[in-house]
Parts: sequence; C-alpha cells; structure tokens
Amino acid sequence: PFETLVVGGGPAGSAASIYMARKGFRTGIAADRIGGQVLDTMGIENFISTIYTEGPKLSAQMEAHISEYDIDVVKPVRASKLIPADKPGEYHTVEFENGGTLSARSIVLSTGARWRSLGVPGEAEYQTKGVAYCPHCDGPLFKGKRVAVIGGGNSGVEAAIDLANIVGHVTLIEFDSKLRADQVLVDKLKSFANVDIHVSAQTTEITGDGSKVNGLIYKNRESGDEHTIPLEGVFVQIGLVPNTEWLKDSGIALSKHGEIEIDDRAATNLPGIFAAGDATTVPYKQIIIAMGEGSKAALSAFDYLIRTEPA
Ligand code: FAD
Repeated sequence: PFETLVVGGGPAGSAASIYMARKGFRTGIAADRIGGQVLDTMGIENFISTIYTEGPKLSAQMEAHISEYDIDVVKPVRASKLIPADKPGEYHTVEFENGGTLSARSIVLSTGARWRSLGVPGEAEYQTKGVAYCPHCDGPLFKGKRVAVIGGGNSGVEAAIDLANIVGHVTLIEFDSKLRADQVLVDKLKSFANVDIHVSAQTTEITGDGSKVNGLIYKNRESGDEHTIPLEGVFVQIGLVPNTEWLKDSGIALSKHGEIEIDDRAATNLPGIFAAGDATTVPYKQIIIAMGEGSKAALSAFDYLIRTEPA
C-alpha cells in the first residue's frame, strides 16, 4: 500500500508524484501512459521558460524527472473504480481494468480530459497540420491566416474572439440555428469586421492537400446546400470531456459537466482524496496550470497525511 497514489500520468499527475516523493512519502503513480495529452501535442510555445518544445520531448522529460525519485510507476493500467475509505486515515482502494487493485491513504486524481472530436473526414488526418483544438496554444501559429472555429457555445465564441485579434479572418460555424454562447460574447464577436458567422451549418469534411488543411465543407441544414470555405486552420470547439466516467458511483462530487469538484486546495468532497488538472473544475486547461495544480494537490495530500492518524 502507498501513502499517496496518483491516478493519471499527464502533467498534473507527474507533478503530484514528484512533489509527494520529495516529501519522503511512499508514492505510486498508476497511468495508462506518462505524458497524457502532451504526448499528442506537437509544438508547445507557452510552457514558461521553455521557448519551444515538442510534446513527446516534454513527456520524456516528465518521465525522466519521475524516475529520479523513488516512485512506483504502475503502467500501462486504466483505473476502473474508486472505493473511498470508510473513515479518515483508512486506505482508499483503486481497481484497475486488468483486475488489479492498489490502495493508499491519500489519492490524487489526475485522469485529465479529451477534446470532443467532430468525427468528419480530414479531421484526424490533418490534426496538428491545420486542425487544432486549443486557441491559447495554437492561435499564434495562424497569424494573418484564415481559420474556422467549429462550435458556437461559450468556448467556440471565446475562441473566435481570441483568434479574431490574431488571425486574418475567422469563420464561426454552428450546427444549431443560433449561437449558444452568452449574449455579451456574441455581441463582442459581431463587432469584429473580420468574422463571419454561419448557423444551421453542419461541417461535413475538412479538406487538405495531403500535407496541410486547405478548406472546410459544410452543409446548410435548412437548404441542404453544400459550401466550401478555403482556409488554413480549423479550431474544433465542441467540448472538452473529463476522463471521470470511472468515478461516477464513487461518491466523488462531479460538476454537471463531469469535472471533479475541487476547492482552492485541490481537495475533493472526500477526505484524503485530492484532484488536479483537466479532470477538475479548475478554470483554464493548460500544461503549466495542470502542473501547478498537481503540485498543489500533493502539498494538500501531504498536509492531510501529517494531520491524520493512520486508522
Ligand atoms: P492529461 O494530459 O489529459 O493526462 C491525463 C492522463 O490520464 C492521460 O494519459 C489519460 O489517458 C490518463 N487516464 C485517463 N483515464 C484514466 C484511467 N481511468 N486510468 C488511468 N489513466 C487514465 N496546453 C498547453 O499549455 N500548451 C499547449 O501548447 C497545448 N497544446 C495542446 C495540444 C493538443 C493537441 C491537446 C490535446 C492539448 C494541448 N494542451 C496544451 C492542453 C494540455 O495538454 C492539457 O491541459 C494538459 O495535458 C492537462 O494535463 P492533465 O495531467 O490534467 O491531463
């Protein structure tokens, strides 16, 4: 058994495990892979103090940093169930899809999130070649160019406003007959001269020349007409889904979006169980934020362990 078990091996989990091990507590990290979404990322330009790096390189550095410490890395495993302790000081148990179980007096949940994808032809093929999901990350790569944002909820409209300041032209595409974002955001978006908005528009394909995106095809859902928009980038903004399905019946409080509810010390509603990163209600999902949150969760777990008598 561990004193702390970290579940999930992205930036949040990596940071949590290193912080815990540095406190001299017996620490394990159970993950399907080390790196998380970072492994799927090409260029990273907003990891402060590192001007440019690439996802696989940063992931390898996280893994190397973990291996500097006495941390039990259990991988590849996927957690399937959390059974919280009956009372503070007792062991929590995590069950895995492979039938194994691990227990620990404190837990850091950091199973991250995944961007909801459109599932249209060209999307997977041109990911990182014009298809992007994160405007904070990739917006500046499209400086002066033409992009589309798919999704007219708050995140899509915020992304379109953000991008309208950076890129040459933005087309916002919404499947529904109206934008679903807050009115103040919609008004702001409409104030830009370089933005077009299409509603009742179903994206059917992202086209490219074999190496990069060159356009987007959408169908007008009222007339049935197909339209092609020539452009260089497509930002898909139809939702970020937290990887918390496995926590549904655990007693951990989740928001209506399925995010683990945490307080400003990264504590969940259950004593001894902390959470960090994209799987939580923390605003803004970024590598540097996930690492900060993972560190915070570990320090809170440390605080819990030194104040709680083992049962
Ligand atoms: P994740 O990175 O999602 O890691 C969680 C890990 O836990 C994953 O490996 C996941 O598979 C695993 N997991 C899930 N469920 C289970 C389970 N049941 N059992 C075990 N393991 C499980 N951010 C930036 O700051 N800059 C960028 O340039 C940038 N670019 C991005 C580009 C792309 C294409 C994507 C997808 C994201 C990008 N982000 C970027 C966002 C950033 O990657 C995330 O905010 C960050 O990785 C979140 O870290 P995390 O540790 O919370 O979760």
